[in-house]
Amino acid sequence: MKINALKVTAVNIPLLKPYHIAVLGTVESTQSVIVEMHTDEGLIGIGESDPALMFTGESQQTVMTMLQHHLGPAVLGMEPRQIENIHARMAAVTVGNPFAKAAIDLACHDLIGKSFNAPVYQLLGGLVNERIPVMWSLGSDTPENNAADAVAKVEEGYGTIGLKLGLLDPKEDVDRVAAVRKAIGDDIHIRCDANQGWNVGTAVSTIQELENYGVAMVEQPVPKHDLAGMAEVVRAVNIPIGADESLSSPQDALDIINAKAADFFSIKTTKHGGLSPSKKIASMVQTTGGKFFINSMIEMGVSVMSGLHFAASTPRLFEIGHALNSVRRLKDDILKEPAHYEGGEIVVPQDRIGLGVELDEDKMERYQVGHFWVKE
Ligand SMILES: [Mg+2]
Repeated sequence: MKINALKVTAVNIPLLKPYHIAVLGTVESTQSVIVEMHTDEGLIGIGESDPALMFTGESQQTVMTMLQHHLGPAVLGMEPRQIENIHARMAAVTVGNPFAKAAIDLACHDLIGKSFNAPVYQLLGGLVNERIPVMWSLGSDTPENNAADAVAKVEEGYGTIGLKLGLLDPKEDVDRVAAVRKAIGDDIHIRCDANQGWNVGTAVSTIQELENYGVAMVEQPVPKHDLAGMAEVVRAVNIPIGADESLSSPQDALDIINAKAADFFSIKTTKHGGLSPSKKIASMVQTTGGKFFINSMIEMGVSVMSGLHFAASTPRLFEIGHALNSVRRLKDDILKEPAHYEGGEIVVPQDRIGLGVELDEDKMERYQVGHFWVKE
C-alpha cells in the first residue's frame, strides 16, 4: 500500500462556552487540522491535530504550512504501515513540530487498523481498559459559578471535577477549590491544572493550601522548561504533581524522569507527535513507576478517539476521571458517529476498525476555514 494523496483541512468549531486558561488566555473555538490520507488501494486514513502555540510553538497555520510544503510531500509514495519509517522520514525533514507530525501518524494508524481489520488499540498492546472514567474541567471563574457548574456536572454523572488555576490570584484559586469541594462533597475527585501559571514559591505555598481540600493531582505548576522547579515542587508537597506542557517528545519524558520532575505524565497523543511516540513515552513511564493522566487539547472527535485507543491499551492510568471528552465542550463535532459515553465513562468501541472514525462531509464543509491537496 502506498500513500498517494493527502487532503488537509483546517476546521474551527465553536466552544459552547469560552474557556479561560492561564497563559493560553480565552479559547473560543477549536483550531484543528484534519488529514485524509488516500492510498493506491482505496483505503483512506483519518488524522487530526490540535496545536497550541504555548505548548510547542505550533498553530493551525504552522501545521497547515508544514503539511503542505514539508511533511506531506515527504510521505507521498511511502507505505503507511511502516510507521517507524514514516517517523524517520518526518524526523529527517524537520525537528520538532509534533502536532503536524501527529496528523500523519494518526492517519497511518487508522490505515494500519483498517488494513488488518482491527481496532487501533489492538496494534498498541491490546485491550487493558474497556471503559475509562471522564472528568469535567472548569475554567477560571468566581467560586460561586465554579461551585454551581461543578454540582451540575456531578449530577450529570461526572466523578471527577477539574479546575484551571494559575490565571487568577492564588488566594482566589484556593477559594474556588474550597467552594467546589464544599459543594460536591468528599466522594468526588478534584484535579487542578495551573498551566505554568506560578513560580516555585507560589506553587509550593498554594499547593500546600490545596492539601486541605482533598485534591488528587496538580498539573504543570511552573513553566515548562523549569524541570528543576518542577522537581522542587514535587519534593515540597503531598499532592501528586504532573507534567503537561513540559512533556511533548519522548526525549522530554526521559528528561523529566531523570530530573524526578513529575509523579504523573499528561498524555495527549497529538502533542507527542502521534500514537507511536506516545507509546514510546508510555514505555519509559511504565518502566520507571510513573502514572498517566489521559489529557486533551481543545480537540474534535478524531483526536479524542486516538486518546481513547491509547488509554484502552495502556496500564497505570491515574485512578480518577480523564479528559477524553473535549467534544462535549464543542457546539458540534465532525464525526458521523461520536464516541459513546455512559454516565461518567467513555466506552472503548470494540466493534470498529482503525481509529473507528468516519467524517461527516456536510459538517467538514460547514466548519472548514481552508483546505488543500498534496498529491504526487
Ligand atoms: Mg494541562
